[in-house]
Parts: sequence; C-alpha cells; structure tokens
Amino acid sequence: MSAPSISILGATGSIGNSTLDVLARHPERYRLHALTGHRRLATLAEQCVAFKPQRAVVPDAAAAEQLRMMVGTLELDIAYGERALEEVATESDVVMAAIVGAAGLPAALAAARAGRRILLANKEALVMAGQLMLDLVAAHGATLLPIDSEHNAVFQSLPRGRDTSVPADGIARLILTASGGPFRNMTLERMATVTPDEACAHPNWVMGRKISVDSATLMNKGLEVIEAHWLFGVPPEKIEVVIHPQSVIHSMVGYVDGSVLAQLGNPDMRTPIAHALAYPERMDAGVAPLDFSQLSGLHFESPDLVRFPCLALAKTALGAGGSAPAVLNAANEVAVEAFLDGRAGFLSISQVVEATLERIAAEPLESLEHLLEIDRRARAEARNLVEHRA
Ligand code: NDP
Ligand code: MG
Repeated sequence: MSAPSISILGATGSIGNSTLDVLARHPERYRLHALTGHRRLATLAEQCVAFKPQRAVVPDAAAAEQLRMMVGTLELDIAYGERALEEVATESDVVMAAIVGAAGLPAALAAARAGRRILLANKEALVMAGQLMLDLVAAHGATLLPIDSEHNAVFQSLPRGRDTSVPADGIARLILTASGGPFRNMTLERMATVTPDEACAHPNWVMGRKISVDSATLMNKGLEVIEAHWLFGVPPEKIEVVIHPQSVIHSMVGYVDGSVLAQLGNPDMRTPIAHALAYPERMDAGVAPLDFSQLSGLHFESPDLVRFPCLALAKTALGAGGSAPAVLNAANEVAVEAFLDGRAGFLSISQVVEATLERIAAEPLESLEHLLEIDRRARAEARNLVEHRA
C-alpha cells in the first residue's frame, strides 16, 4: 500500500515549518501532495525545492509567475487563488490546516466536505464555524485531530484511547493551561504603550505574529475555550483556564472521581504535530525529552480578567452562541492587524472587540453564506471603531 498523501495549508508559517521538520524525519510515512503560501514566496520556493510536492498554491497569478521563476525547471504544478486552496485540501488523504485566521476557513470546510483527515491548527475556523464544521465532519466521515497544544493534550488525556465511539463519561472539567504571555506581570499603564515586537516576544513558544499577540492579550486562550467546546462537546462552564508560566503541562482533564490526567512535555509544537501525524501510533518528533532535574517548579495561578479582558469576552461570546464567536473573531483579527501595523494601541484590541460585540447582536447561524455576511459586517464595524480610536 502506498503512503497516504498530505497537503500543508500555510506551509510557510511557523506550524507549516514545524510540520515539514517532522515529515523530513519520516519520509516513508507520507507523500507530499501540496504546499501553500501567501506572502513568503521565497520560503515556499525553498520548501518546494527541498520537499518536491506535486502542487503549490499562491494567492494570485503574479505570485504564481514569481514562484515559477524561483523554482526554475522543478516539476511542480503551480495554482493560485482560494479555489485552488480548496482543491488541494480535497485532493490529499490528510490536510494540515495551518493558515492563520478566517482565511483558512473555506479550505478547512472543503477538507471536511471531502471526508479527509484534518490536522487542525487553524483554531479561528472552529471559533467562527464550530457547528458547521462538526456537521460536515459527521456527514462526510472526516476526522478532526487537534494540533493546538492544549487540545492535543486534552485529546491525549481523554479516556477514549483509540476508539472515539467510547462515550467520554465521567469528565468533570477540562483545564486549559496558559503561559500568561509576555505581559503576565505588567501593569495596565505599561501595557498601554507596548510595541508589536514586545507583544510578539513570547516567553515559551515561537509562533506567528497574530497568535503571539493573541497570547499576549489572552484572546488566544479565549479562542481555545471555544475551540475546546466544539472539539470535545464539553459545556463552557466545565472548561477552566489556569495560568501555568512554565508551559510544561499542556492541559488536563479532570474526572468525577477526583483524578486529573495531564500531558507534559517541552513546549515544542513538533510534539502535537507528530502525535497527530502518527496517530494512533507514536513517532519521533525531534523534541528533547523533558528533563525533570532541570525544572525549578511548576506554578499555577488564576487569570486576571481585569488586565486581560479578552478571555472574559470570548467566554461571553461562547455563552451568547450563534454568531457571537464569529463576531469576536472578526473584530479581534481587525484589531490585532491594526496593532501590528502601528495603527492602534495594545489595549484598544479588547476595547474594539467589546464594542463590536455590543453593536452586533448574536443571532442563530443559518448557513455558511450567513456566517460570511456576519464576518464582513463585524470587520466593517471593527475597522470603523479602530479609525475613531486612532
Ligand atoms: P504564521 O503567521 O506563522 O503562518 C500563517 C500561514 O498562513 C503562513 O503560511 C501564511 O503565508 C499563511 N497565510 C496568511 N494569510 C493567508 C491568506 N490570506 N491566505 C492564505 N494563506 C495565508 O502562523 P502560525 O503558523 O503561528 O499559525 C497558524 C495557525 O495555527 C493559526 O491559526 C494559529 O492560531 C494556529 N496555531 C499556531 C501555533 C504555533 O505555535 N505557531 C500553536 C497553536 C495554534 P505567508 O507566511 O507565506 O504569508
Ligand atoms: Mg494553544
């Protein structure tokens, strides 16, 4: 039997690079079908030369021409546009969904519709369209495996083992850990003046800029609460967040008998990536073993919702249901982009998200078109708010 094929959506990013690193250690396991990139065409070209996928996807015709120049005579089918992204997501057996933000949603949904095995890093897709995505996964026999380290840790700590048909009875709570980000001990006054580079200097993880800012505001943990709700079918009141600055425990599952199961390891995304790539087997990820003699201690504290209101906003949006999480996500993407571009301050991120949620009342989601319309409305509202605050 030939090895299954894989496409990496968002290959040029942090998760994409880590995925290629793991795959390079096990060339016999997968055939590389497609790599996709957006702005970092030189990186994509290098990856294509090194890994020889059948196809590459870029945003437009000009980028396709540039990539062709960069790879020379390499045998490579170069396609462009959103349709091409959806196409490669349906063509391979396995899809690593690692595009950042709402831009990754259509391809993730296409992979679900095609019944593929989806390794999901793109949490924004689930935050926006949790129910839609789960319905498609169920209707078309697709498989969702979590790449986000917390959700991968929860998955590993669940009682089901390999058999997902075993009911997850006895779960009292999910406990998501959060490092607290680079501003964990900073005053609000100082946070008002932080720069994008300070926000992206995460203490434990090296990640893309958008998720790094989300980690600094704790919106990332809010998005992860919503993601956990959809992935594991656990109600919001049973999902807790605890600050754990060392990022050694990646998350936990608490059971009704008082047991708590946790997954530990060095903070390196290659562990959850290798876990999902090999599941239900295990394979080497290139990650150094956790050295307990070097650990000075494991600390835990409650999140401060006054300095980090984004976490509370995300929980409120999940409670409101329907379109609210999509509005939260859209407003956050707009506000984070404005912050990274120097058009808005760090504290305005939570303010813009809160005001957008106040202006667009939650409504039941009827269809994908309806969701995309809400997403557009929320972005327009948030852009307006950013301009008036600048
Ligand atoms: P990066 O910013 O490093 O990478 C994002 C990828 O998406 C790049 O390949 C980028 O292309 C591509 N991309 C960006 N915009 C578009 C677009 N409009 N259309 C198509 N492709 C696009 O992000 P990360 O790898 O850090 O994160 C990716 C996802 O994984 C996010 O949803 C994040 O929340 C999630 N995640 C990341 C973790 C991490 O440790 N990094 C941990 C857990 C979850 P290009 O670079 O060529 O412009
Ligand atoms: Mg995470």
